[in-house]
Amino acid sequence: MIETKRIVCPSCGASMRYEKDRLVCDYCGSHRSLSLRISSIRYHPLEDHLPQWSDREFHCSSCGATFEAPSYLHSGECPYCSSHLIAPAQNGYELPYILPFTITQREAYQRLRQKIGSLWFAPDDFKRFFKKYKELKSYYYPAWVFSFRIRARYIGRRGVDYLYTETIYTSQGLRRVQRIRTEWFPVEGEVDLGFEDIYAFSYTDTPMMARRLLYRLGESVSFREEMLAGQESYEYNTSTRQGFVAAQAAVEGELRAAIRADIGGDRQIISKIYRHYYDGRYSGIYLPMFWGSVEYRGKIYEFFVNGQSGEVIGKRPYSWIKIVSAIVIGLAVVALILFLLDHFGYIDISMPNRLIY
Ligand SMILES: [Zn+2]
Ligand SMILES: [Zn+2]
Repeated sequence: MIETKRIVCPSCGASMRYEKDRLVCDYCGSHRSLSLRISSIRYHPLEDHLPQWSDREFHCSSCGATFEAPSYLHSGECPYCSSHLIAPAQNGYELPYILPFTITQREAYQRLRQKIGSLWFAPDDFKRFFKKYKELKSYYYPAWVFSFRIRARYIGRRGVDYLYTETIYTSQGLRRVQRIRTEWFPVEGEVDLGFEDIYAFSYTDTPMMARRLLYRLGESVSFREEMLAGQESYEYNTSTRQGFVAAQAAVEGELRAAIRADIGGDRQIISKIYRHYYDGRYSGIYLPMFWGSVEYRGKIYEFFVNGQSGEVIGKRPYSWIKIVSAIVIGLAVVALILFLLDHFGYIDISMPNRLIY
């Protein structure tokens, strides 16, 4: 059984919740500020950390209830008394950094409402629904962070465009036209690139959409347990090695762009890349987000708000009536313009091959 702890409000004894740069008590309104100082991430030589399977029986330090928690839960609410509980880290390696929330839950609702309100072609009743929507929850998901270098040898071809003139036969006789042709040259070479602050979520059930959220890790602070109070958070359950593979995949686009720049010319073909990763170093961090979902006409729509940047991502429904009417109106406007241009003699839209008797 795991003994949980909670941050107790000094004035009323309720459990406090972390928000931006302070701990707040939702019960009596008192708060305590946390002085958070940014510390740049220090990396360690790569070694494999494996998640540990642990006992998931939580004991609530407030009401005394015992309950089965989801695997790898690090902090969350007691299902009986709603206290904000924090469990001690069960994995051998404790993540050393955490990214503070820079927006409150109230601000996250505003961002979400603004975003939904500005959506083109969204059904009106879907938009109206968000006026009183209050179901965003805040989360901290763990991620591995890496710094590493890639030396990549490549084989490919460089294409150089040139203009040439061709004589063609047309119904009006011989015509000379200019065309583009590409000449290809075999190339090979090597690029050496360094990457920093490349993160890969390390909890397998991190929602797919949330993995697209972008974070600036330059604003990280040293891990503080109090910051998990009132957030649902999880411990890592993928190894450092798995994370490193994901980080390598994350920079593939940048690597290919660097190789294309190295090849030069007007066009490039990359036929083979031999990658060598070296100087791999790692660290770990908790990343902040809000997550909510709504059911609309039998489908679930999920929304994420980046706890750092306020960026909103999610799926949304489309109103086909709005789209079709926009197309119809658009076509009508085009027809009206053509009619007016024709009417005032700027263009002639009569059929050119019409036979006149
Ligand atoms: Zn209080
Ligand atoms: Zn409880």
